[in-house]
Amino acid sequence: MTQAVRHDSMRARNLEVVLGEVSRGGPLTRAAVAERTGLTKSTVSKLVGDLVDAGILAESGLTRAGERGRPGVEVVLSGNRVASLGLEINVGYLAVCLLDLAGEVRLTLRLARDNRGSAPDEVLAELQVLAAEALDEADRLGFTLAGAGLAVSGPVGDGLLLSAPHLGWQDVRPGEMLDLPVPVELDNEANFAALGEVWFGAGELDFLYVSGEVGIGAGLVLDGALFRGAHGLAGELGHVVVSPDGPPCRCGGRGCLEAYAGQEALLAAAGGPATIADLVALVKGGDQRAELACAEAGRALGLALASAVNLLDLDRIVLGGIFAPLFGWLSGPAEQILRERLGRLRGSVPTVTSSRLGASAATLGAAGRVVHRVIAEPGPFLAAHREAREA
Ligand SMILES: [Zn+2]
Repeated sequence: MTQAVRHDSMRARNLEVVLGEVSRGGPLTRAAVAERTGLTKSTVSKLVGDLVDAGILAESGLTRAGERGRPGVEVVLSGNRVASLGLEINVGYLAVCLLDLAGEVRLTLRLARDNRGSAPDEVLAELQVLAAEALDEADRLGFTLAGAGLAVSGPVGDGLLLSAPHLGWQDVRPGEMLDLPVPVELDNEANFAALGEVWFGAGELDFLYVSGEVGIGAGLVLDGALFRGAHGLAGELGHVVVSPDGPPCRCGGRGCLEAYAGQEALLAAAGGPATIADLVALVKGGDQRAELACAEAGRALGLALASAVNLLDLDRIVLGGIFAPLFGWLSGPAEQILRERLGRLRGSVPTVTSSRLGASAATLGAAGRVVHRVIAEPGPFLAAHREAREA
Protein backbone atom coordinates (compact mmCIF):
# COMPACT_ATOMS: atom_id res chain seq x y z
CA MET A 1 0.00 0.00 0.00
CA THR A 2 1.30 3.43 -0.85
CA GLN A 3 1.38 6.17 1.75
CA ALA A 4 -1.46 8.05 -0.03
CA VAL A 5 -3.77 5.03 -0.21
CA ARG A 6 -3.14 4.26 3.44
CA HIS A 7 -3.96 7.87 4.34
CA ASP A 8 -7.18 7.79 2.27
CA SER A 9 -8.44 4.56 3.76
CA MET A 10 -7.62 5.73 7.27
CA ARG A 11 -9.49 9.00 6.62
CA ALA A 12 -12.49 7.05 5.25
CA ARG A 13 -12.47 4.84 8.34
CA ASN A 14 -12.21 7.81 10.70
CA LEU A 15 -15.08 9.57 8.91
CA GLU A 16 -17.21 6.46 9.49
CA VAL A 17 -16.27 6.34 13.16
CA VAL A 18 -17.00 10.04 13.77
CA LEU A 19 -20.29 10.04 11.86
CA GLY A 20 -21.34 6.77 13.51
CA GLU A 21 -20.78 8.31 16.94
CA VAL A 22 -22.80 11.47 16.15
CA SER A 23 -25.63 9.60 14.40
CA ARG A 24 -26.04 7.20 17.34
CA GLY A 25 -25.30 9.54 20.23
CA GLY A 26 -25.68 13.10 18.91
CA PRO A 27 -25.92 15.97 19.46
CA LEU A 28 -22.27 15.93 20.56
CA THR A 29 -19.52 18.53 20.80
CA ARG A 30 -16.31 17.93 18.86
CA ALA A 31 -14.55 17.37 22.19
CA ALA A 32 -17.09 14.69 23.16
CA VAL A 33 -16.61 12.96 19.79
CA ALA A 34 -12.84 13.00 20.33
CA GLU A 35 -13.27 11.50 23.78
CA ARG A 36 -15.61 8.75 22.54
CA THR A 37 -13.56 7.82 19.47
CA GLY A 38 -10.05 8.22 20.85
CA LEU A 39 -9.15 10.46 17.89
CA THR A 40 -7.32 13.74 18.46
CA LYS A 41 -9.39 16.91 18.69
CA SER A 42 -7.74 18.36 15.60
CA THR A 43 -8.53 15.22 13.56
CA VAL A 44 -12.14 15.30 14.77
CA SER A 45 -12.44 19.03 13.96
CA LYS A 46 -11.19 18.48 10.43
CA LEU A 47 -13.51 15.50 9.82
CA VAL A 48 -16.54 17.20 11.37
CA GLY A 49 -15.74 20.26 9.24
CA ASP A 50 -15.83 18.14 6.07
CA LEU A 51 -19.09 16.46 7.14
CA VAL A 52 -20.70 19.84 7.91
CA ASP A 53 -19.46 21.15 4.57
CA ALA A 54 -21.08 18.26 2.69
CA GLY A 55 -24.38 18.78 4.55
CA ILE A 56 -24.25 15.49 6.45
CA LEU A 57 -23.78 17.12 9.86
CA ALA A 58 -25.00 20.48 11.08
CA GLU A 59 -24.22 22.61 14.11
CA SER A 60 -27.23 22.29 16.39
CA GLY A 61 -27.03 25.83 17.66
CA LEU A 62 -26.64 24.54 21.22
CA THR A 63 -23.45 24.95 23.18
CA ARG A 64 -22.31 22.86 26.07
CA ALA A 65 -19.75 23.83 28.69
CA GLY A 66 -16.47 22.16 27.81
CA GLU A 67 -13.27 21.64 29.70
CA ARG A 68 -11.95 24.71 31.49
CA GLY A 69 -15.38 26.28 30.96
CA ARG A 70 -14.88 26.72 27.21
CA PRO A 71 -18.22 26.13 25.48
CA GLY A 72 -18.34 23.62 22.63
CA VAL A 73 -20.82 23.77 19.76
CA GLU A 74 -22.79 20.57 19.33
CA VAL A 75 -23.18 18.85 15.98
CA VAL A 76 -26.07 16.60 14.84
CA LEU A 77 -27.09 14.71 11.75
CA SER A 78 -28.41 17.34 9.35
CA GLY A 79 -31.95 16.92 8.07
CA ASN A 80 -31.80 19.91 5.78
CA ARG A 81 -29.29 19.32 3.02
CA VAL A 82 -29.09 15.69 1.89
CA ALA A 83 -32.00 13.49 0.85
CA SER A 84 -32.79 10.29 -0.99
CA LEU A 85 -35.61 9.12 -3.20
CA GLY A 86 -37.67 5.96 -2.64
CA LEU A 87 -39.70 4.72 -5.62
CA GLU A 88 -42.12 1.84 -6.06
CA ILE A 89 -43.82 0.14 -8.97
CA ASN A 90 -46.55 -2.12 -7.69
CA VAL A 91 -49.30 -3.90 -9.53
CA GLY A 92 -51.94 -1.40 -8.48
CA TYR A 93 -50.01 1.83 -7.87
CA LEU A 94 -46.86 3.90 -8.29
CA ALA A 95 -45.30 5.68 -5.31
CA VAL A 96 -42.44 8.04 -4.49
CA CYS A 97 -41.07 9.43 -1.24
CA LEU A 98 -38.38 11.99 -0.46
CA LEU A 99 -36.51 11.21 2.75
CA ASP A 100 -33.98 13.48 4.45
CA LEU A 101 -30.82 12.22 6.12
CA ALA A 102 -32.31 12.59 9.59
CA GLY A 103 -35.11 10.19 8.61
CA GLU A 104 -37.96 12.67 8.04
CA VAL A 105 -40.24 12.09 5.08
CA ARG A 106 -40.45 15.39 3.16
CA LEU A 107 -42.83 14.33 0.41
CA THR A 108 -44.89 11.29 -0.56
CA LEU A 109 -46.68 10.86 -3.85
CA ARG A 110 -48.92 7.99 -4.79
CA LEU A 111 -50.76 7.29 -8.00
CA ALA A 112 -53.33 4.49 -8.19
CA ARG A 113 -52.77 2.81 -11.54
CA ASP A 114 -53.59 -0.67 -12.79
CA ASN A 115 -50.18 -1.64 -14.17
CA ARG A 116 -51.22 -5.12 -15.25
CA GLY A 117 -50.34 -5.68 -18.89
CA SER A 118 -48.75 -2.20 -19.27
CA ALA A 119 -45.44 -2.07 -21.16
CA PRO A 120 -42.42 -1.20 -18.98
CA ASP A 121 -41.66 2.09 -20.79
CA GLU A 122 -45.25 3.23 -20.33
CA VAL A 123 -45.18 2.60 -16.57
CA LEU A 124 -41.68 4.06 -16.20
CA ALA A 125 -42.79 7.24 -18.00
CA GLU A 126 -45.55 7.68 -15.39
CA LEU A 127 -43.12 7.02 -12.56
CA GLN A 128 -40.70 9.53 -14.09
CA VAL A 129 -43.39 12.24 -13.76
CA LEU A 130 -43.76 11.49 -10.03
CA ALA A 131 -39.97 11.34 -9.58
CA ALA A 132 -39.58 14.70 -11.35
CA GLU A 133 -42.06 16.25 -8.94
CA ALA A 134 -40.04 14.91 -6.00
CA LEU A 135 -36.81 16.20 -7.56
CA ASP A 136 -38.37 19.67 -7.91
CA GLU A 137 -39.31 19.58 -4.25
CA ALA A 138 -35.77 18.46 -3.32
CA ASP A 139 -34.43 21.40 -5.34
CA ARG A 140 -36.83 23.83 -3.72
CA LEU A 141 -35.71 22.65 -0.26
CA GLY A 142 -32.06 22.92 -1.27
CA PHE A 143 -31.32 19.19 -0.91
CA THR A 144 -28.51 17.30 -2.60
CA LEU A 145 -29.80 13.91 -3.71
CA ALA A 146 -27.62 11.04 -2.43
CA GLY A 147 -29.27 8.23 -4.37
CA ALA A 148 -32.51 6.44 -5.13
CA GLY A 149 -34.00 3.01 -4.52
CA LEU A 150 -36.71 1.42 -6.66
CA ALA A 151 -38.97 -1.33 -5.29
CA VAL A 152 -40.61 -3.73 -7.74
CA SER A 153 -42.93 -6.68 -7.24
CA GLY A 154 -40.84 -9.55 -8.50
CA PRO A 155 -37.51 -11.28 -7.96
CA VAL A 156 -34.46 -9.08 -8.59
CA GLY A 157 -30.83 -9.95 -9.20
CA ASP A 158 -28.09 -7.41 -9.97
CA GLY A 159 -30.35 -4.59 -11.13
CA LEU A 160 -32.40 -6.95 -13.27
CA LEU A 161 -36.07 -7.60 -12.60
CA LEU A 162 -36.18 -11.27 -13.57
CA SER A 163 -39.93 -11.46 -13.80
CA ALA A 164 -43.02 -9.63 -12.70
CA PRO A 165 -45.72 -12.08 -13.73
CA HIS A 166 -48.58 -9.82 -12.70
CA LEU A 167 -47.23 -7.03 -14.87
CA GLY A 168 -46.28 -9.41 -17.66
CA TRP A 169 -42.64 -8.24 -17.52
CA GLN A 170 -39.56 -10.35 -17.91
CA ASP A 171 -35.86 -9.41 -17.76
CA VAL A 172 -36.39 -5.66 -17.43
CA ARG A 173 -33.95 -3.10 -15.97
CA PRO A 174 -36.41 -0.44 -14.75
CA GLY A 175 -33.75 1.45 -12.74
CA GLU A 176 -31.87 2.21 -15.95
CA MET A 177 -35.00 3.42 -17.72
CA LEU A 178 -35.46 6.32 -15.30
CA ASP A 179 -33.80 9.66 -15.98
CA LEU A 180 -32.47 10.64 -12.54
CA PRO A 181 -29.31 12.51 -11.50
CA VAL A 182 -28.28 9.61 -9.23
CA PRO A 183 -27.93 5.83 -9.64
CA VAL A 184 -31.03 3.78 -8.86
CA GLU A 185 -30.80 0.67 -6.73
CA LEU A 186 -33.37 -1.99 -7.61
CA ASP A 187 -34.80 -4.53 -5.18
CA ASN A 188 -37.87 -6.58 -4.48
CA GLU A 189 -40.62 -4.66 -2.67
CA ALA A 190 -40.85 -7.17 0.20
CA ASN A 191 -37.11 -6.76 0.83
CA PHE A 192 -37.30 -2.97 0.89
CA ALA A 193 -40.48 -3.09 2.96
CA ALA A 194 -38.78 -5.36 5.51
CA LEU A 195 -35.93 -2.83 5.81
CA GLY A 196 -38.49 -0.02 6.10
CA GLU A 197 -39.97 -1.94 9.00
CA VAL A 198 -36.54 -2.24 10.69
CA TRP A 199 -35.77 1.46 10.39
CA PHE A 200 -39.18 3.12 10.65
CA GLY A 201 -41.41 0.45 12.20
CA ALA A 202 -41.34 -1.24 15.57
CA GLY A 203 -37.53 -1.45 15.57
CA GLU A 204 -37.38 -5.25 15.80
CA LEU A 205 -34.17 -6.85 14.52
CA ASP A 206 -35.29 -10.45 13.83
CA PHE A 207 -38.52 -11.10 11.97
CA LEU A 208 -40.16 -12.24 8.77
CA TYR A 209 -41.96 -9.45 6.93
CA VAL A 210 -44.76 -10.79 4.77
CA SER A 211 -46.04 -8.57 2.02
CA GLY A 212 -49.47 -9.38 0.66
CA GLU A 213 -50.24 -7.89 -2.74
CA VAL A 214 -51.41 -9.59 -5.91
CA GLY A 215 -48.37 -11.78 -5.25
CA ILE A 216 -47.04 -12.61 -1.78
CA GLY A 217 -43.41 -11.89 -0.95
CA ALA A 218 -41.42 -11.99 2.25
CA GLY A 219 -38.31 -10.28 3.56
CA LEU A 220 -36.32 -12.14 6.19
CA VAL A 221 -34.50 -9.85 8.63
CA LEU A 222 -31.83 -11.39 10.85
CA ASP A 223 -29.97 -9.20 13.32
CA GLY A 224 -31.23 -6.09 11.50
CA ALA A 225 -29.95 -7.19 8.09
CA LEU A 226 -31.74 -8.68 5.15
CA PHE A 227 -31.11 -12.35 4.36
CA ARG A 228 -31.00 -12.59 0.58
CA GLY A 229 -30.25 -16.25 -0.19
CA ALA A 230 -27.84 -17.70 -2.76
CA HIS A 231 -29.20 -15.65 -5.67
CA GLY A 232 -30.87 -12.79 -3.83
CA LEU A 233 -34.20 -14.50 -4.33
CA ALA A 234 -35.04 -15.60 -0.78
CA GLY A 235 -38.55 -14.94 0.50
CA GLU A 236 -40.83 -16.21 -2.26
CA LEU A 237 -43.35 -17.21 0.37
CA GLY A 238 -46.22 -16.98 -2.13
CA HIS A 239 -45.09 -20.25 -3.73
CA VAL A 240 -44.73 -22.23 -0.54
CA VAL A 241 -47.12 -25.16 -0.95
CA VAL A 242 -50.17 -25.13 1.28
CA SER A 243 -51.93 -28.06 -0.37
CA PRO A 244 -50.27 -30.12 -3.14
CA ASP A 245 -53.64 -30.84 -4.78
CA GLY A 246 -54.91 -27.27 -4.47
CA PRO A 247 -55.81 -24.84 -7.25
CA PRO A 248 -53.27 -24.18 -10.02
CA CYS A 249 -50.82 -21.29 -9.53
CA ARG A 250 -49.27 -19.09 -12.21
CA CYS A 251 -45.83 -20.54 -11.31
CA GLY A 252 -46.90 -23.87 -12.83
CA GLY A 253 -47.41 -25.55 -9.46
CA ARG A 254 -50.57 -26.21 -7.50
CA GLY A 255 -51.84 -25.16 -4.11
CA CYS A 256 -49.31 -22.36 -3.49
CA LEU A 257 -50.09 -19.82 -0.74
CA GLU A 258 -50.72 -17.18 -3.41
CA ALA A 259 -53.59 -19.25 -4.81
CA TYR A 260 -55.36 -18.84 -1.43
CA ALA A 261 -54.21 -15.56 0.03
CA GLY A 262 -53.00 -13.46 -2.91
CA GLN A 263 -55.16 -10.41 -3.63
CA GLU A 264 -56.94 -11.88 -6.65
CA ALA A 265 -57.65 -15.22 -4.99
CA LEU A 266 -58.91 -13.48 -1.88
CA LEU A 267 -61.23 -11.08 -3.74
CA ALA A 268 -62.59 -13.89 -5.91
CA ALA A 269 -63.28 -16.10 -2.87
CA ALA A 270 -65.06 -13.19 -1.18
CA GLY A 271 -67.54 -12.94 -4.04
CA GLY A 272 -65.72 -10.40 -6.16
CA PRO A 273 -65.40 -7.01 -4.42
CA ALA A 274 -63.33 -4.75 -6.70
CA THR A 275 -60.70 -3.66 -4.17
CA ILE A 276 -59.28 -4.54 -0.78
CA ALA A 277 -61.01 -1.45 0.64
CA ASP A 278 -64.32 -2.92 -0.60
CA LEU A 279 -63.43 -6.26 1.00
CA VAL A 280 -62.65 -4.53 4.31
CA ALA A 281 -66.05 -2.81 4.11
CA LEU A 282 -67.73 -6.19 3.54
CA VAL A 283 -66.08 -7.92 6.50
CA LYS A 284 -66.75 -4.91 8.71
CA GLY A 285 -70.39 -5.20 7.72
CA GLY A 286 -70.41 -8.87 8.74
CA ASP A 287 -70.65 -10.31 5.21
CA GLN A 288 -70.33 -14.03 5.76
CA ARG A 289 -68.77 -14.99 2.45
CA ALA A 290 -66.11 -12.28 2.83
CA GLU A 291 -65.37 -13.41 6.40
CA LEU A 292 -65.02 -17.03 5.27
CA ALA A 293 -62.66 -16.00 2.46
CA CYS A 294 -60.46 -14.12 4.94
CA ALA A 295 -60.51 -17.03 7.40
CA GLU A 296 -59.52 -19.44 4.63
CA ALA A 297 -56.71 -17.12 3.50
CA GLY A 298 -55.61 -16.74 7.13
CA ARG A 299 -55.41 -20.52 7.58
CA ALA A 300 -53.39 -20.88 4.37
CA LEU A 301 -51.10 -18.12 5.62
CA GLY A 302 -50.77 -19.95 8.95
CA LEU A 303 -49.72 -23.17 7.19
CA ALA A 304 -47.07 -21.43 5.07
CA LEU A 305 -45.79 -19.50 8.10
CA ALA A 306 -45.62 -22.67 10.21
CA SER A 307 -43.28 -24.15 7.59
CA ALA A 308 -41.17 -20.99 7.58
CA VAL A 309 -40.96 -21.01 11.40
CA ASN A 310 -40.00 -24.69 11.50
CA LEU A 311 -37.23 -23.96 9.01
CA LEU A 312 -35.94 -20.68 10.42
CA ASP A 313 -36.91 -20.57 14.12
CA LEU A 314 -38.58 -17.16 13.89
CA ASP A 315 -40.30 -15.58 16.84
CA ARG A 316 -41.87 -12.60 15.08
CA ILE A 317 -43.89 -12.20 11.91
CA VAL A 318 -45.01 -8.83 10.54
CA LEU A 319 -47.90 -8.77 8.08
CA GLY A 320 -47.87 -5.90 5.57
CA GLY A 321 -49.39 -4.85 2.26
CA ILE A 322 -53.03 -5.92 1.93
CA PHE A 323 -52.62 -8.12 5.02
CA ALA A 324 -52.32 -5.01 7.22
CA PRO A 325 -55.88 -3.67 6.65
CA LEU A 326 -57.23 -7.26 6.80
CA PHE A 327 -55.17 -8.15 9.88
CA GLY A 328 -58.19 -8.35 12.20
CA TRP A 329 -59.78 -11.07 10.06
CA LEU A 330 -56.66 -12.98 8.95
CA SER A 331 -54.53 -13.11 12.07
CA GLY A 332 -56.90 -15.15 14.27
CA PRO A 333 -57.16 -18.11 11.87
CA ALA A 334 -53.42 -17.86 11.05
CA GLU A 335 -52.47 -17.89 14.74
CA GLN A 336 -54.81 -20.80 15.40
CA ILE A 337 -52.91 -22.86 12.78
CA LEU A 338 -49.55 -21.73 14.19
CA ARG A 339 -50.61 -22.90 17.66
CA GLU A 340 -51.81 -26.25 16.32
CA ARG A 341 -48.69 -26.85 14.25
CA LEU A 342 -45.98 -25.39 16.46
CA GLY A 343 -47.25 -25.31 20.04
CA ARG A 344 -46.44 -28.90 20.97
CA LEU A 345 -43.21 -28.96 18.99
CA ARG A 346 -41.74 -25.71 20.21
CA GLY A 347 -43.62 -24.77 23.35
CA SER A 348 -44.19 -21.30 21.95
CA VAL A 349 -45.59 -19.69 18.83
CA PRO A 350 -44.28 -16.59 17.09
CA THR A 351 -45.90 -13.21 17.65
CA VAL A 352 -47.85 -12.03 14.63
CA THR A 353 -48.27 -8.28 14.24
CA SER A 354 -49.51 -5.88 11.60
CA SER A 355 -47.08 -3.51 9.83
CA ARG A 356 -47.25 0.03 11.18
CA LEU A 357 -46.13 1.51 7.90
CA GLY A 358 -48.84 0.11 5.65
CA ALA A 359 -48.30 0.83 2.00
CA SER A 360 -45.35 3.21 2.62
CA ALA A 361 -43.03 0.46 3.86
CA ALA A 362 -41.33 -0.28 0.52
CA THR A 363 -40.61 3.34 -0.50
CA LEU A 364 -39.38 4.10 3.02
CA GLY A 365 -37.05 1.10 2.90
CA ALA A 366 -35.83 2.02 -0.59
CA ALA A 367 -35.02 5.61 0.39
CA GLY A 368 -33.81 4.48 3.80
CA ARG A 369 -31.22 2.16 2.33
CA VAL A 370 -29.54 5.12 0.59
CA VAL A 371 -29.63 7.22 3.76
CA HIS A 372 -28.23 4.39 5.86
CA ARG A 373 -25.44 3.79 3.39
CA VAL A 374 -24.40 7.46 3.40
CA ILE A 375 -24.30 7.39 7.20
CA ALA A 376 -22.47 4.05 7.39
CA GLU A 377 -19.98 4.97 4.68
CA PRO A 378 -19.84 8.74 4.02
CA GLY A 379 -16.58 8.65 2.01
CA PRO A 380 -18.08 8.17 -1.49
CA PHE A 381 -20.74 10.85 -0.91
CA LEU A 382 -18.10 13.32 0.29
CA ALA A 383 -15.90 12.58 -2.74
CA ALA A 384 -18.85 13.11 -5.11
CA HIS A 385 -19.77 16.33 -3.28
CA ARG A 386 -16.19 17.63 -3.60
CA GLU A 387 -16.08 16.70 -7.29
CA ALA A 388 -19.41 18.42 -8.00
CA ARG A 389 -18.19 21.60 -6.27
CA GLU A 390 -14.92 21.62 -8.19
CA ALA A 391 -16.65 21.05 -11.52
ZN1 LIG B 1 -46.96 -20.86 -7.19
